[in-house]
Amino acid sequence: MRAISVRRGHPLLTTALKINPQSPIDHLLAMFADWGGLLQYYLAMGVDLSKLIERIPKAELHLHIEGTLEPELMLALAQRNQIELPYADVDEIRRAYEFSDLQSFLDIYYAGAAVLITEQDYYDLTWAYLERAASDNVRHVEIFFDPQTHTDRGISFATVIYGIYRALQDGETNLNITFRLIMCFLRHLSADDAMNTLEEALPHKSCIHAVGLDSSEVGHPPSKFVAVFDRAREEGFLTVAHAGEEGPPEYIWEALDLLKVERIDHGVRAIEDAKLVARLVDEKMPLTVCPLSNLKLRVFNTLEEHNLKELLDAGLCVTINSDDPAYFGGYIGENFRQSQRALGLSAEDIYLLAKNAFIASFISDGDKKRYIQELEMAMK
Ligand SMILES: [Zn+2]
Repeated sequence: MRAISVRRGHPLLTTALKINPQSPIDHLLAMFADWGGLLQYYLAMGVDLSKLIERIPKAELHLHIEGTLEPELMLALAQRNQIELPYADVDEIRRAYEFSDLQSFLDIYYAGAAVLITEQDYYDLTWAYLERAASDNVRHVEIFFDPQTHTDRGISFATVIYGIYRALQDGETNLNITFRLIMCFLRHLSADDAMNTLEEALPHKSCIHAVGLDSSEVGHPPSKFVAVFDRAREEGFLTVAHAGEEGPPEYIWEALDLLKVERIDHGVRAIEDAKLVARLVDEKMPLTVCPLSNLKLRVFNTLEEHNLKELLDAGLCVTINSDDPAYFGGYIGENFRQSQRALGLSAEDIYLLAKNAFIASFISDGDKKRYIQELEMAMK
């Protein structure tokens, strides 16, 4: 069976069609499909790629470890640490996860983080994510952590990082998942606060590969953090930044020119600026796109309207990621599956998205080659 990719989904199409490349009639259909985007979409929609999605090796590059806290673990940690939650049971927490906007998401997000106290809590949180990632055949992760969410509550930097790092090391040994750790600054806090956090991180430099920028984007442009990022690069860290999720394309320009980032996290609003798209293509700048997150936070009203396929067709190095999966309705496999169905992604698109993630990762060229070979084997 062959899937043909198309630019955009069409809501009126509901029936599935499959084509066989050996069949002359189907071949004719495919030719028509090449002329008509609607039929192309129709054909791609009919192909079930869930098995392919399940078996391909994946890299996840945009994942906040605090955003993987499932209600069951939140409750267990609250009991272990004798913390009173404003929720009586798992069902009530799950209902609170049905937030309606960014603020209601942040409320539950920070309430959840408050149950993380000991090094073992951070270990358990990270380990639970890695087990889920392994079940999605994730082979490499580059995870974010937000030290300020914890140090501001009096938790030591060492407690946070040792718990996370030890789980990542165990994940490499026991689950065969390689990793990089990225420290994010909360952009709604001051640049001085970020600089202090960077200073605090320096004794643990060997555990941290890169620094990033997350939290509420609008009103907190990358330009606010130039000095921190300059210092971070001097210290040998690579840099990434959330930009162009809710914020305008200008924030992406700033992330590139002022913060000298290696990747843009989200970046979906780049499409509004043709010059920017041309530059991103030219520089092969990766975008770590998070479809279900964008849906839940209303960056797009429906997944069918998401511009992931458009960005991919424009030649951008697009990757699929889960962002805060406990809160946004799905881990990386689910992001792939739902995007494939909603946008009619072809097998070639799936291959490209998975390959882009390995290319965009911070591993060695040798490891990239090895993972891409693994991916190619899985496509057969
Ligand atoms: Zn994010």
